[in-house]
Amino acid sequence: MVTVKLKPMVEILELLKPYERVFVIGCQLGSGRCKNGGLREAFKVAGYLELHGFKITGVKSPGGTCILERIDAPEKSLIKEAESSSDAILSLACGAGTQLIAENVSIPVITGVNTLFIGVERERKYFDEYCIACGDCVISETGGICPVARCPKSLINGPCGGAIAGKCEVDPSIPCIWYKIESRLKELGSLKSVEKRAPLKDYRSCVYPRRLVLEE
Ligand code: SF4
Ligand code: SF4
Repeated sequence: MVTVKLKPMVEILELLKPYERVFVIGCQLGSGRCKNGGLREAFKVAGYLELHGFKITGVKSPGGTCILERIDAPEKSLIKEAESSSDAILSLACGAGTQLIAENVSIPVITGVNTLFIGVERERKYFDEYCIACGDCVISETGGICPVARCPKSLINGPCGGAIAGKCEVDPSIPCIWYKIESRLKELGSLKSVEKRAPLKDYRSCVYPRRLVLEE
């Protein structure tokens, strides 16, 4: 999922300073799941803004904010409702959802979150980065573990050699991911899959902006 972190309230207040009537939009996908921008947080932020003198014109979530038909449904358009009643929209959706809102309304859209990474959730509490969407996935050769996102140097041809007692030299609070890859491949009996040099990474697949087109 895409993980986000709510911006500090002082920063949100500063960003909203020029406006009076604010509509708050949360997102129930990534933002909601990591409890930093779902409907619950949207109501909390709205309450805080009200205490600071803003008029809240609405607090809603369309579910997934990065899906155009959810925010602009023909029968009940959330963004049209927000646009007609407010000076600005505060979006707690990720960068993608917030941009989609912004390009479909004529009023300013302010983000209340920082979008962090594509990650996994554990114990409903920890979110760890697992993928940087490099567009040229190598994990079939690395035991299903991503060295691009989970090694701070993104090394795809083995470890840098700086690990100490299995811990990463850049961040000793995490394991060297290449130790994990090696032990997983041993377990699977497929260590050979990383013995050959990985081909040079095709960086054309991560030139932004990218587009996926669904075939009919
Ligand atoms: S290799 Fe690239 S696409 Fe595959 S998990 Fe890692 S970052 Fe994501
Ligand atoms: S110690 Fe391991 S995880 Fe850390 S930078 Fe070196 S290869 Fe990557």
